[in-house]
Amino acid sequence: MDIYNNIAKISLQHFSKLPKTGKPTENEWTILSTIVKDDRKMNSLEVVALGTGTKCIGVNQMSANGDILNDSHAEIICRRSFLKYLYFEIKACIAKNYKSDLLDFCFVTKKFSMKHRFKFHFFTTHVPCGDAAIFQKEENGISTTETDICSENIVHNPMKKIKLDYKNVDIYRTGAKCLPQGPLADPHDTSVNFHVVGVIRTKPGRGDPTLSVSCSDKIAKWCYLGIQGSLLSFLLVKPIYINSFTVAANTSS
Ligand SMILES: [Zn+2]
Repeated sequence: MDIYNNIAKISLQHFSKLPKTGKPTENEWTILSTIVKDDRKMNSLEVVALGTGTKCIGVNQMSANGDILNDSHAEIICRRSFLKYLYFEIKACIAKNYKSDLLDFCFVTKKFSMKHRFKFHFFTTHVPCGDAAIFQKEENGISTTETDICSENIVHNPMKKIKLDYKNVDIYRTGAKCLPQGPLADPHDTSVNFHVVGVIRTKPGRGDPTLSVSCSDKIAKWCYLGIQGSLLSFLLVKPIYINSFTVAANTSS
């Protein structure tokens, strides 16, 4: 079993061991996201942050005092949980006279850094909302373009020019809307031309529109700036990056 299957396995096991409070009942569902610590020296994996959820409040529910959580999608809750884990570890390191299994402390810069042997992996049970949810549909596990390439006609006539029938290619749709002030908008045309990709989107949802951007956009930001956020960056020598992202496959069919 490769590391990514192990990451999925321990994430689901960790969730199943949690008490029932707050978990979906039989007729409900949710999305689960975790961050897994990978100790390269000990060759071990451990779930250090976890979040579930699919809700995001609309613009009219937002609090001017900042005391209502805007974005409760699993990926975002999980990242909040990871920040709490980092604060806890920093506090524990200070309490132990700046000694920690996880962190090093530099007495010159007075900042912390992650020990090199640790990497962090992100796991989620669903593709993040936004751009990541826009991808080509597959039939029987084979994408429509691959079906064309593998058709018998081409196998028996390998020199024949491959003509892909893009009329048969389709993509998954998302309710995540492009920012109105952005440079591009979805054309909402047929098949692959329904969406554009590479633009910032707000989270999908009906009713009161949200101002929170999609999980794809937030994850893209973490990939460039690190997952620690601006406040923690004052305490860290360098950003903390996610080493890999694993999205669970649907194994029910
Ligand atoms: Zn999301």
